[in-house]
Amino acid sequence: MYNSDELRLFFEKARLGVCSHAYIIDGADGVGKREFALEAARAMLCSEKNKPCGYCKNCLMASSGNHPDIFVVGHEKTATIDEVRKLIVRASLKPNQAEKQVFIICNANKLREDSQNALLKLFEEPPATVAIFLLTESRSSLLPTVLSRGQRIHLDGLTDNELADKLAEKYPSLNGSDIKTVVHVAGGNYGIAEKYLSKENSNLREKAENLLLFALSKKNYELASALVLPKHKRDQLRAILVELITVANECEKARYGVREALAPKNKELAEIVKNASKRALSRIGEAATACIAALDGNQNVTATATKFATDLIKAAAR
Ligand SMILES: [Zn+2]
Repeated sequence: MYNSDELRLFFEKARLGVCSHAYIIDGADGVGKREFALEAARAMLCSEKNKPCGYCKNCLMASSGNHPDIFVVGHEKTATIDEVRKLIVRASLKPNQAEKQVFIICNANKLREDSQNALLKLFEEPPATVAIFLLTESRSSLLPTVLSRGQRIHLDGLTDNELADKLAEKYPSLNGSDIKTVVHVAGGNYGIAEKYLSKENSNLREKAENLLLFALSKKNYELASALVLPKHKRDQLRAILVELITVANECEKARYGVREALAPKNKELAEIVKNASKRALSRIGEAATACIAALDGNQNVTATATKFATDLIKAAAR
């Protein structure tokens, strides 16, 4: 979810009637570009003075996601050239209900060059009834000609306090220290926070913490069992290793006395880490990085996991 200052500014422009016809919204994955564009569209289509009023027909339909003049493409899958052409035809027609029609093109950075070129015409000479939002993670992947035609809106993540408030509202069961942890990991990005809270992620963390625990407490048998015995799929093992790097890194920070370092959830690990060697923690992170490189280099998964178990034991002995 984005920092709300930009949206307030946009609403102000909509009230003054000085909105542009073409915007390029950029911001990290998960920051809420589509949500922003939908809110902006609602304000543009609202028929009252205090836009968005929240009660006119246009506002209500937009809020329910059923406004006949708001068109969203490329959300699930990158828009094809055919979809772009259809959209251009639609733009030449009158709006269905409101005074304008709004086109929201998600993942514009993934549009093929011919699609971008086709859109360019619409950007250059848009009918007075049309507004376009191009959403992109990076501006550099758009054609310079497209970039030069659109007004930029850059979305930043939430402040730590805003993110903490949102999470407390959505996940009432989280306690203060859990929220602090998530805010720390997510760095203002609501999408990352949600991902972190997902079940899959907490499983990964548990597995990664176990690996570190087994390595540091020299439980070699348990370590080998956790790594080698359940036949991991490549992606699965990779994900655990990525998490292990984070866990080892945070533990290392804690050993150096960095105050905001994330404490392990596993109590036993939290205790052991207090006396672990800083060098061992950093070697463990390096071993995991090397193992990921081997996996990405398409080496045999079981052989790589076996070698990693040995490397981890060696690293932990430092
Ligand atoms: Zn309204």
